[in-house]
Amino acid sequence: MSHTDYPYDSDRSYDPDREQGDERHRDPYADAHASRPGAQGNAGGAATGHHRPTHGNRPDAVERTFAALPPAHGRGFAQTWWGQRWLKALEDTALDNQQLKKGRKHARDGAVGAVSVRPGRITAVVRGQDGTPYRSDVLLRELTEAEWDRLLDMVADQSGHIAALLDRDMPPHLVEDAAAAGVELLPGIGDLEPECGCEAWDHCPHTSALCYQLARLLDQDPFVLLLLRGRGERDLLDDLQARSAARAAPHAPGRAAVAPTPQTVPAREVFAMAVAIPPLPEPPPPVPEPGRPPRLGGDAATVGTPSPGVAGPLDTDALEFLAADAAARAHRLLAQALAPGHEQVPVREELTEGQDAVRLATANPAAPIVARLAAGCGRGRADLDRAALAWEHGGPDALAVLDERWAPGPDALARAGVQLSQAWEEPERPRLRADGNRWTVVGADAQLRYGQDGRWWPYRKERGHWCPAGPAAGDPATALAGALGED
Ligand SMILES: [Zn+2]
Repeated sequence: MSHTDYPYDSDRSYDPDREQGDERHRDPYADAHASRPGAQGNAGGAATGHHRPTHGNRPDAVERTFAALPPAHGRGFAQTWWGQRWLKALEDTALDNQQLKKGRKHARDGAVGAVSVRPGRITAVVRGQDGTPYRSDVLLRELTEAEWDRLLDMVADQSGHIAALLDRDMPPHLVEDAAAAGVELLPGIGDLEPECGCEAWDHCPHTSALCYQLARLLDQDPFVLLLLRGRGERDLLDDLQARSAARAAPHAPGRAAVAPTPQTVPAREVFAMAVAIPPLPEPPPPVPEPGRPPRLGGDAATVGTPSPGVAGPLDTDALEFLAADAAARAHRLLAQALAPGHEQVPVREELTEGQDAVRLATANPAAPIVARLAAGCGRGRADLDRAALAWEHGGPDALAVLDERWAPGPDALARAGVQLSQAWEEPERPRLRADGNRWTVVGADAQLRYGQDGRWWPYRKERGHWCPAGPAAGDPATALAGALGED
């Protein structure tokens, strides 16, 4: 159930845009003035007819006005346990059962006008049996700042409490936890104090009717009770979010005083708020092929205005190349994301700039772009070609094998020796000279490189440089066959 399910709900704090000046915001006291011109000292500032509360311990405390409910014959007034507790407080407090009975009838008959809820007070105009309107108020003590502090701390510690409230539910658990923190949320005996224009000194049919009506409102939205206790919904949720954020922040008491509240939300909070935030949009449909980047030649290429920090005109060819690469990657990423089991695939580490330059070079761009890539990653042109070749055989792992030397442990070396000796009969068995992780065949332009990934990579010497000769193999004999051109 969402907040907007209540057509009569005009919470002014929640969405000011909804304030249309319609009859939901009609001054609930206007009739009362007419009915009891002589009334004095009854309701303090409220009798002036202002919507803004003139009391309450917070300046931004708000008022909500609920339109009159239609007659509801034969129905109970409280379906929820907290609504029933509210009525029990009334029934325990009132001395005269006849007054309550009349009140129930008034409420059922639709005699209660719009109900205004403010911190510490609910107000409505209630029509008596003969149609005379009476301004009726019921007062409930606001929680003190210290009580609110304890209550909100307790709720912020339990994301389930926040979720329940947002779902317009008030679990008994929450009220018990509050009581354990020394805060009584629901009224008890004697807590609902009547004030009525009929000048009764106890609950009269009018204040009783108002209480019954309020039970119906409470059923729909427990935030009504919290407002009556002193805080509006928006105010409460902001406060709870700040408290949750403070709990999630690293413990830095000195810094917390100066640093602004971080604009982050703990994950458990987000899950708790799931009822209040819109669901994620549907993923986009798969596309058959990458989009084509726009042609940037022509005007853009001939303008020739140097970009800031770049000598010479804009390099539109390079930009087109990058746009095409971005489109191809986006296409691939989308296909991967839509594939079943995608959520199980570990997230890859981001490439370094050097790795990314090599990756881009594998796309065979035009010579000027290759030259920029080579300069950008600090490789010579021929070195970049070898690096791109390695990348095609095995991505970052293969590139690391091209660039790095390291010393494998004795176990790995011994195991490799056994595997190689089993793969060839003497005298065909190639003789290898080990130098760290690089094992070179004596008398041939072939080499094995043992990678940090535990695999063996074939290399061949071409024009005086060792070049990647194929993908990796788990055993050195297979890799060596590849390096010798025997596969
Ligand atoms: Zn009365």
